[in-house]
Amino acid sequence: MLENLTAQPADKILALMAAYKADPRNEKVDLGVGVYKDASGNTPVMRAVKEAERRILADQSSKAYTGLAGDPAFGKAMRDLVLGDAVPSERIAAVATPGGTGAIRQSLELIRLAAPNATVWLSNPTWPNHPSILKYLGMKMAKYTYFDNATREVDFDGMLTDLRKVAEGDVVLLHGCCHNPTGANLTYDQMSQVIGILQEKRAVPLIDIAYQGFGDGLNDDAQITRLIARSFENCLIAASCSKNFGIYRERTGILMAVAKDADQQALTQQTLAFLNRQNYSFPPDHGARVVSTILTDPALRADWEAELEETRNGMLALRQQLADELKRLTNSDRFDFIAHHRGMFSRIGATPQQVEEMRDKHGIYMVGDSRINVAGLNAETVPVLARAIVAAGV
Ligand code: PMP
Repeated sequence: MLENLTAQPADKILALMAAYKADPRNEKVDLGVGVYKDASGNTPVMRAVKEAERRILADQSSKAYTGLAGDPAFGKAMRDLVLGDAVPSERIAAVATPGGTGAIRQSLELIRLAAPNATVWLSNPTWPNHPSILKYLGMKMAKYTYFDNATREVDFDGMLTDLRKVAEGDVVLLHGCCHNPTGANLTYDQMSQVIGILQEKRAVPLIDIAYQGFGDGLNDDAQITRLIARSFENCLIAASCSKNFGIYRERTGILMAVAKDADQQALTQQTLAFLNRQNYSFPPDHGARVVSTILTDPALRADWEAELEETRNGMLALRQQLADELKRLTNSDRFDFIAHHRGMFSRIGATPQQVEEMRDKHGIYMVGDSRINVAGLNAETVPVLARAIVAAGV
């Protein structure tokens, strides 16, 4: 049987991680995988997470199964965190999932059941796992223009032109904030225009929100998601807790489906529970319980928010330092987009050859499309990267 297997495409980012590990140079800089790192290169366990885990360890009296949708307290806490009071809770069906990836996967499975002929539209570029999972599930997909390689900002006119080609009932995947891989984001007003087109086309938005709190702040980063949720009869939201709680390996995420009314919500909830049952039965609980413990305890929540703000402001400071350094070295403002981008990533616009040159000559590891993880930098490595960018002729 196993002799029939053919090699599956390798994940480029995971391959880059392995190459970095194997590089013997001390001065190497890892700007590859999308994990937050502090100035000394650690991915810390957040203070509030440690305390929540301590409490869970002390108080938990059973490890019996939760429900198929996960712990209801997690569902409620995440609904409040992401959606606030944008839509009445009677309209929201939700299931806990293994990470944001699990939420994306379940959202696509739900679409396949409800609208098997729908095309799912992805930004060009997007997180590579989006097209990869869609392809694996045998679903139809299309790309809409998103990034302008010349300005390194959103190509908004190109995006609107492509979204006018969306057919009734198609699904359009939008990043809630902190676009991965580009770092370029729509303004609230631009998103209002996108919403107008999608409403006209009777399309269904699918929002991937994996970096809430990493861009302009917890509340600000949710505004576009809330605006979209308010504007459509149906919309799907896949949220990840990996980054903003720093609990990557705990696999914590949620899929929320906004239904038209309470009847449709009940049917959707039942279907989502069924999908969890078919794929992995009960979702993981530990990370979800950490999240709900933090979000429902005012002191823990305040501490978590404070640490998340430190994290966010640290990345903004690195962005500004890099943009300033490049301005100084090039005597131009063509790299100002780095300070303007939001989230953990920026696509800096280098060619694959330039990316390779920076890796070979300077030990700087970034993804082949020239996505850098800003959190992989620190005050000492920013000038090293800036010099490498200029030397490579980016
Ligand atoms: N969506 C996007 C855009 C992401 O960047 C990520 C993480 N790389 C995810 C979803 C999912 O993350 P996880 O499954 O680790 O929660």
